[in-house]
Amino acid sequence: MLLGVIADDMTGATDVALMLNRAGMRTVQVIGAPAQGAALPEADAVVVALKSRTCPVAEAVADSLRACEALLAAGARQILFKYCSTFDSTAQGNIGPVADALMQRLDARIAIICPAFPANGRSIYQGYLFVGPMPLHESSMKDHPLTPMRDSNLMRLMGAQTEAPVGLVDYATVLAGPEAVQARYQALAGEGVRYVVTDALTNADLMVLGASVADHVLLTGGSGIAMGLPQNFRQAGLLGERAAPETLHAPPGRAGILSGSCSSATRGQIKAAIAAGYPALKLDPLALAAGGQPVEEVVGWALRQPDETPFLLYSSDDPAEVAAIQDRLGREKAGALVEEAFAAIARRLSEAGLTRLLVAGGETSGAVVQGLAVRTLEIGPEIDPGVPWTRVVDGPEMVVALKSGNFGAPDFFVKAWRLLD
Ligand code: ADP
Repeated sequence: MLLGVIADDMTGATDVALMLNRAGMRTVQVIGAPAQGAALPEADAVVVALKSRTCPVAEAVADSLRACEALLAAGARQILFKYCSTFDSTAQGNIGPVADALMQRLDARIAIICPAFPANGRSIYQGYLFVGPMPLHESSMKDHPLTPMRDSNLMRLMGAQTEAPVGLVDYATVLAGPEAVQARYQALAGEGVRYVVTDALTNADLMVLGASVADHVLLTGGSGIAMGLPQNFRQAGLLGERAAPETLHAPPGRAGILSGSCSSATRGQIKAAIAAGYPALKLDPLALAAGGQPVEEVVGWALRQPDETPFLLYSSDDPAEVAAIQDRLGREKAGALVEEAFAAIARRLSEAGLTRLLVAGGETSGAVVQGLAVRTLEIGPEIDPGVPWTRVVDGPEMVVALKSGNFGAPDFFVKAWRLLD
């Protein structure tokens, strides 16, 4: 392994994994902090997806260190601590404390702070983070329920979370190229600075910054910074040329879609799949609560459908229906009931020969992946921005695509299968 990534949430992990995959690194995503001594799969890059963005600081630090140990044991030469491109955190952390712990473990002299992601409108100038045309603290992130961002100055934001001095590589230096940036790191390190915020407005800037950190053992940033890292491994002769995969080989077997997402994008995709002739069965949370739609019956229905066309099992409903169900069952109970049903259905379907599975819904995906006891996914071709096909590395032999609610074009459920061979 060349690059080890510790991501502070699941969708962020997929994001950075896709970025590395596109840049020609064979990338595997591991879900959750690996158990002590657990071996990681072989790949150019391994991304460990944690849930450490808003958990208690001590837990975030412990999980991140555990992930770091596993990545180092598997041969990682460089560690990227990946957080959100809007620097989602509070004055308590978790970015600062996790970065401090990794810095100490890796004996790093200096680490960059670069949440910039120009393709998504996240840019940094004079150390101020912008979301599109707005400074971070004026963007909708100011009202985030868990991590409201009320400042845009990354030196101050990081400074509130760490004792270590924080400096800046400004845009003029980035424009002057990697050597100039490296000279600035040297000068700042000489002054005792441990973290360096790096300005970046374009992808070209991220390539310059990538080149400038070839010998840094620890980096911190958003998925954008990953764009400039594969070039270093290539230049060092450690990584060959590899185009991003366009298809994924899927084991022979049945195909199906499980959808617990009630987002308008998903509901549109369900409509399109039904219009395209996909056999579809709706799960009714009230029936599930009353034991009226047992898993065996649902699975039996799915397996009776002609196997040339993927079947669709969905609980997705419009907001009024969902609200009515939540009134009857309670919001959490309704959600948990449906998630548990999908987890059990996925497990039974996999035992019955399902090998190609599309799941819609972030929480639903989490439940299904847990139900299938899947811990490791190899990233394959991108179906729509942010949603790749993945191959299960350490569980049932199958390929899965996990789509969070609002992602994907209207024909997502219909077109995704074309990327499988
Ligand atoms: P998204 O990514 O669109 O937010 P999630 O899977 O994360 O989708 O969340 C959808 C939640 O709604 C899940 O907890 C799911 O179990 C629940 N749910 C799905 N269908 C219904 C329904 N008909 N009524 C109430 N809750 C539902």
